[in-house]
Amino acid sequence: MTYQPPLYDIADALACVGLDDVLALPAFAHIDRDSVQEMVGEFARFVASEIAPIDTVGDAVGSRVDHDTGRVVTPQGFAEAYRRFVAAGWPAVPFPEDWGGDGLPWVVGMALQEVLASACLSFSLCPMLTQSGVELLGQSGTAEQQARYLGRLVSGEWTSTMALTEPDAGSDVGALRTRAEFAAGVGWRIFGTKVFITWGDHDLADNIVHFVLARAPGAPSGSRGISLFAVPARLVGPDGSLGEPNALRCVRVERKLGIHASPTCVMEFDGATGELVGELHRGLPAMFTMMNTARLSVGVEGLALAERAHQAAWAYAQTRHQGRLPGTDPAASVAIAEHPDVQRMLLTVRATAQAARLLVYATARAVDESRHHPDPRRQSRAGEVAAFLVPLAKAWPTDMASAMASVAIQVHGGLGYLEESGVTQIYRDARITSIYEGTNGIHAIDLVVRKLGIGPESPLMGLARRLESCAQGLRVGGQRDAATVLGQAADTLVWSAKWLVARRADAPLDALAGATPFLRLAGTTVGALLLGERHLQRDGSGPLPAADAFFIRQLLPIALAEAPAIRAGAGSLRE
Ligand SMILES: Cc1cc2nc3c(=O)[nH]c(=O)nc-3n(C[C@H](O)[C@H](O)[C@H](O)COP(=O)(O)OP(=O)(O)OC[C@H]3O[C@@H](n4cnc5c(N)ncnc54)[C@H](O)[C@@H]3O)c2cc1C
Repeated sequence: MTYQPPLYDIADALACVGLDDVLALPAFAHIDRDSVQEMVGEFARFVASEIAPIDTVGDAVGSRVDHDTGRVVTPQGFAEAYRRFVAAGWPAVPFPEDWGGDGLPWVVGMALQEVLASACLSFSLCPMLTQSGVELLGQSGTAEQQARYLGRLVSGEWTSTMALTEPDAGSDVGALRTRAEFAAGVGWRIFGTKVFITWGDHDLADNIVHFVLARAPGAPSGSRGISLFAVPARLVGPDGSLGEPNALRCVRVERKLGIHASPTCVMEFDGATGELVGELHRGLPAMFTMMNTARLSVGVEGLALAERAHQAAWAYAQTRHQGRLPGTDPAASVAIAEHPDVQRMLLTVRATAQAARLLVYATARAVDESRHHPDPRRQSRAGEVAAFLVPLAKAWPTDMASAMASVAIQVHGGLGYLEESGVTQIYRDARITSIYEGTNGIHAIDLVVRKLGIGPESPLMGLARRLESCAQGLRVGGQRDAATVLGQAADTLVWSAKWLVARRADAPLDALAGATPFLRLAGTTVGALLLGERHLQRDGSGPLPAADAFFIRQLLPIALAEAPAIRAGAGSLRE
């Protein structure tokens, strides 16, 4: 099955979340809607012809360590595809012009990332992580560090990694043991082992800059005493020239369920030369500034795989003939797409992918406004909205990706269980997106413990008001059923939030217990809201499109049934 970039759906979603408003910000005066569409179209053509074809071989062969050189070798076609990707200038698109980028809105960058992740998730992770490195250096690096690294990371000539996780420090990053030592005249040296480092070594670029979290002498314990270091795989001279290999290596590439072409490396730092990025002991706040966008990028992966699952399932359902329908010729079988039960599956995946796209793009729009709105009050409000939406935009689409890949397998019947169907790869690849960049359980807790407020100006109450007004608009347009469910969703969201906020103070374990069901409720509700608002923006007088009506009328009520689980309390969960 070949992936077709859904250009119409992408353009439509960009318009719906307010691309025009973003482009009207002074920071984007150099670009208009037509040139955005042109760029997305050109990128889609590039990806369809250069990147999509390496996905299957990447899955079948995987990256591995070459025992002679000790270096990681990627599957055939990856290095060449990456060279073309860089030569065409694609990595630079979303970065500010003074960092060497094209200065496009983040929301446009997310649309490009969607296409890339749909075509080949493994490949897309390498530029995605480099993007995080660029943001870190752009925000926290010294002028000298920026001069040395930034341009080459923005262009994609070099790549970077995020090296946080250790065997005993996963969700609890503060438990890390990697240490940094300072020697006069020598500088910082890094000692320790990092695990699960994505694209920790490879043959795509001449250098890899590892952004490593480590503890320096005199650091307070826990997450407050962590510093951030840039540790290049090959040392870089003051003039930018490449020097000797640094004292670090990939000791193993993990064997894993999916994303086989993306090397997941155990990295050993044995006195490697590093440079402090940002303030000593203040590495984690620097990392967190960047993580909002990294998390959003993982949310994009979820939506990208849900889209791909839909394309595969839909195409198969048109061609596979099985069974008959009541009232049709008993001698002739029908395409399985004719069976209501298969239609339910197809619509579930299509509607979910669309809702996920709107959720992720709407969050990216808030990120753009939080960075570029000329009115500081609007900027800070957008920052709060983005902070609230990011855990939703990371966790909901990624959980949905696994569920939707499973539905796509079901549509394929027995063939879906075989590797030759291709949907097995989507299923295997999707699973990691709920785990890395913070597990979805940790994001649900972040939402409930840190982001959830119920004051009149809180993002949650803003959403509740939008739900009411969308319900009203749909009612006026004759969509009574959909309006009723959206109204119920507003009520359920608000009283669930009030319960959680009250428990957060008095019985915090109860609030923690309700976090994941609350995230499921909120993710589905925001998806439904955005679909409803899109309909009203278009005109609102006609019937809702089938997938949107299905999502609001048939899937949203399932999410509303999370209400008892949200309020069941921690006592209900002990075995
Ligand atoms: C393929 C792959 C690529 C990765 N890439 C990178 C990378 O590039 N860089 C990097 O630094 N890391 C990377 N990781 C690591 C990834 O981010 C961690 O695996 C993840 O953060 C979870 O940590 P853990 O594996 O230690 O699980 P644990 O923290 O042990 O969690 C196990 C379970 O317990 C739950 N849990 C843990 N603590 C709490 C809590 N306080 N409250 C409630 N529930 C909790 C979790 O949600 C999870 O369900 C990658 C992992 C994989 C598998």
